[in-house]
Amino acid sequence: MAFDLSEKHHRLIWNCQTCAGCQRGPQNPFGPTGPTPDRICPSYDKYRRLAYSAQGRLLVAKNLLDGKMELSDKFVESFYECTLCGACAPERMTRAGCCMQRAQPEIFRDLRADIVKMGKGPTEPYKKIGKAIKETGNRFGFAADKSKRTKWAEGMNIKEKADIVFFAGCVASYRKKEIAQSTAKILQKAGVDFAIIGDDEKCCGNPLVNSGQYDDFEAVVKHNINAIKKAGAKKVVTSCACCYSVLKNRYPEVAGDLGFEVVHSTALFAELIEEGKIKPEKSISGKLTMQDPCNMTRNDVSEGTNVPEPRKIINSIPGVEFVEMEGNGMYTWCCGRNPVETPDLALNSATRRLEDADAVGADTIVTSCSFCDWSISKAIKSTRSDKKSTDITVLLAESLGL
Ligand code: SF4
Ligand code: SF4
Repeated sequence: MAFDLSEKHHRLIWNCQTCAGCQRGPQNPFGPTGPTPDRICPSYDKYRRLAYSAQGRLLVAKNLLDGKMELSDKFVESFYECTLCGACAPERMTRAGCCMQRAQPEIFRDLRADIVKMGKGPTEPYKKIGKAIKETGNRFGFAADKSKRTKWAEGMNIKEKADIVFFAGCVASYRKKEIAQSTAKILQKAGVDFAIIGDDEKCCGNPLVNSGQYDDFEAVVKHNINAIKKAGAKKVVTSCACCYSVLKNRYPEVAGDLGFEVVHSTALFAELIEEGKIKPEKSISGKLTMQDPCNMTRNDVSEGTNVPEPRKIINSIPGVEFVEMEGNGMYTWCCGRNPVETPDLALNSATRRLEDADAVGADTIVTSCSFCDWSISKAIKSTRSDKKSTDITVLLAESLGL
């Protein structure tokens, strides 16, 4: 067995003090006496077993790298039942003495890549999604003759070349078209000159890189970068935090300097509101709270900077009452991220968010990530909750009367 990619983390892994700070450390925003129970790691919260926590995974990794343990199917499963949310690795943990240099998500990704190379992974759902992306360019496996990727843009008269490219992503292109349409309508209303790369856009590769299917990820990165460059883009805008994070943080690991900037639509929209280019006027009633995506906060290289913008947008909408949930910004709770790849984990995690919203009396959870919206919407349906989930672009478009 060869742990080639993980070997570079060997010393760091060996240094883990097994202190369990990543399970109950000072970064825990959910105090034991708070309105929702004590928790940090979504995976440990669901399974309550050491092997399903960062500490346990590192202990297993150490023994695997030391050659003292064989990789069993059970360990493979536990490595994949992790959302890579980074709640075990925020900055505060480093100050509190965790010596892992916040590398846990990267270590877990590289371990998965080694597992894939050994032929023992990824798990079946990831394998299926990987195959779908390879064959059709999208995570759902829709063939182009049955459902065009850019069907959402029909009749919207969007250009093919401009300095700014809007990258819609799979979920907004196929399952939540209103997110892609709202983003485009807002940009048009503000007079922003933008393009889409049309059916040349492929899945950003998030499921591939996160499951360790690095070779297939590389192919997707090269394809999308070529298409973006062909459109002449200097800036890429996404409305999905997962696309944003992968394009901004993972693509340069494969391709070096991208030659274009990657921004989340909330940053651009907050700017447009500030400059007076768009003005939300239609009143929206309700008590709203915000689900900060891990990929726009602690997992981002420019961490924290994406926290104020969504709030600026929400607070500019007349009639809205905004309230913060426990666990926000850098200390946000993961939505569960992968409703298809790890459905039980996702459902547990997203249901926790419904409890958090309930604890502060919010009736609507606003998200800025297609995956957060998808995961929370699924939990609402399966628990028959009366809460609502809405993407921030849809909310803003509504208030703009679009
Ligand atoms: S990863 Fe850090 S916080 Fe967690 S057990 Fe190891 S040293 Fe402690
Ligand atoms: S990345 Fe998230 S789910 Fe994975 S071990 Fe860390 S806290 Fe748990």
